Parts: sequence; C-alpha cells; structure tokens
Amino acid sequence: MTVEKFEKDARTLHKFIQLYCDNKHKNTKKTQDFIELCYDGKELGKLEFNLCKECEKTLKISYSNLLSCPHDDKPSCRKCPAPCYEKTDWKKLAKIMKYSGMQMGLLKIRKLFGAKQK
Ligand SMILES: [Zn+2]
Repeated sequence: MTVEKFEKDARTLHKFIQLYCDNKHKNTKKTQDFIELCYDGKELGKLEFNLCKECEKTLKISYSNLLSCPHDDKPSCRKCPAPCYEKTDWKKLAKIMKYSGMQMGLLKIRKLFGAKQK
C-alpha cells in the first residue's frame, strides 16, 4: 500500500481507539506514550496516545498488523480474504471502530446543525 494510505489508516486507527478509550474507560488508569509512525523507510511523525493498558494493546496490535499487511491495495479488513487478526483482537477492534464511527457521525451531524443555526 502507499505511504499516504498507510498514514491515513494508522491515524484513523489511533483516533478511533483514543476516542473509544476516552469515553468508555474514563476511570481506568491511562498511560501516555507514542508510536513512531514509519512506513517504507519514511518517517511520518508520531502518534501520541493516552490509553488504558487494554486499548494500548489493541492499538499496538492493529498498528503492527497494518504495517505487515501483505496487500498492495489494502482491502477493508472486514473483506480481507486472509485476515491477520486473532479472532478476539478483531472482535475488540470491530467494537471500537463501530462505537467511534458512530460517535464521529454524531459529531458531524451536530456540526452540520450548528452551522445551519447560525
Ligand atoms: Zn481503554
């Protein structure tokens, strides 16, 4: 996959997991850390996160799966003929993506309404 595609996917992954953890694990102890974003020899900056242990693990697994994705033209993981996720990890991530996707949809709708009311 292209560097652009990789960076976009990695940032989306990070944003979704962070949002999920912020909302769902408010009272869980969080660790602040970062992942060096790097693909195909290109440095792409840092992904800074503040996540609980479990979400940190999910992010790191997802990130390394993305890094080692064998597809040139990466399909949606849901449609992948050779999924690289363990079933339990995949279920966890699917739940996070669904939840955060909905939250972001709501945010977009609120912004739309906000703009209309001006
Ligand atoms: Zn969490």
